[in-house]
Amino acid sequence: MKTKISIIGTGNVGATLAYLIIQAELTDVVLYDVVEGMPQGKALDISEAAPLWISSSAITGTNDYAPTAQSDIIVVTAGFPRKPNMTRDDLLYANAKVVSEVVERTAALSPNSIFIIVTNPVDVMAQLSLKISGFKRERVIGMGGILDSARFRTFVAWEAGVSPRDVEALVLGGHGDQMVPMSRYTTVKGVPVTELFSKERVDALVQRTRDGGAEIISLLKYGSAYYAPAAAIFHMVKSIICDENRLLPCSAYLSGEYGEHDVYTGVPVVLGKAGIEKIIELKLNEQEEADFAKSAKTVKNFVAKLGNPSHKMQ
Ligand code: NAD
Repeated sequence: MKTKISIIGTGNVGATLAYLIIQAELTDVVLYDVVEGMPQGKALDISEAAPLWISSSAITGTNDYAPTAQSDIIVVTAGFPRKPNMTRDDLLYANAKVVSEVVERTAALSPNSIFIIVTNPVDVMAQLSLKISGFKRERVIGMGGILDSARFRTFVAWEAGVSPRDVEALVLGGHGDQMVPMSRYTTVKGVPVTELFSKERVDALVQRTRDGGAEIISLLKYGSAYYAPAAAIFHMVKSIICDENRLLPCSAYLSGEYGEHDVYTGVPVVLGKAGIEKIIELKLNEQEEADFAKSAKTVKNFVAKLGNPSHKMQ
């Protein structure tokens, strides 16, 4: 049976994701954006690449929500990216307005879909989307941890002089300056980096991971990262569409897991056709627990700033 994904926001991240999906012939795609002609133009360009990739997946561009109806997955990349010297949290109010509108419109047309929220600050936007959509928590997922973990893997691989394929990394907590890179669970072919490198080197790799987004913004000058973010979303989409049950760090709504309640933050989850099939609870040491709680508190503070939308959760 054919599946359909709608990508709301056809900017750098959304369009790159669409291209990856069509290239891999994963599913049909609808590209939506408020800018007239832009999603249509990008969809046409990507359609013309499909024969070269021998892909039968179809892509259409629109400024109308109707074609997004009955999507299996809605990816929300609409909003504004960070500029130099801006934190993800500076984007809070502007993007909350965009995400509220997008989720309200798309949830009504695709009541059985799964939301993947990407717009920053992502944990806060995911929590807003949960409330506005009224969907169950399994079907509203934020993207952050996969990207942060991929960045950590890259830096560890360079340090060890090995292929990133042989590095596993885990980053928990909110996708922000308070993220929690888990060095004990970050390994080169099973050997934790804490045993391979000095504490100073591990600390430096952790810091570069925390600053990963800002490092790219300062080089690009305008706009933020999009190749690695799109690749991260692609793996979430694939795990859901193909029911792969991959274990991936994603932003999920916690109801008691890791001692946290009523907050979205990054934890390892199993992603399958129902969305989040399971949240995996790891044993954290004292320092990790404190860092995780601090990160969750930051998200809670921003959610509180936004106030509670009147919409009801299921
Ligand atoms: P971009 O500016 O290239 O694209 C954003 C698009 O959203 C634009 O095309 C714009 O026209 C569109 N848009 C604005 N308002 C809209 C609305 N009401 N409805 C539909 N579309 C609307 O930005 P980008 O680089 O693609 O980033 C998109 C978002 O994703 C940003 O908030 C960015 O911070 C975030 N992001 C998150 C992660 C993550 O790890 N979670 C990673 C990268 C980017």
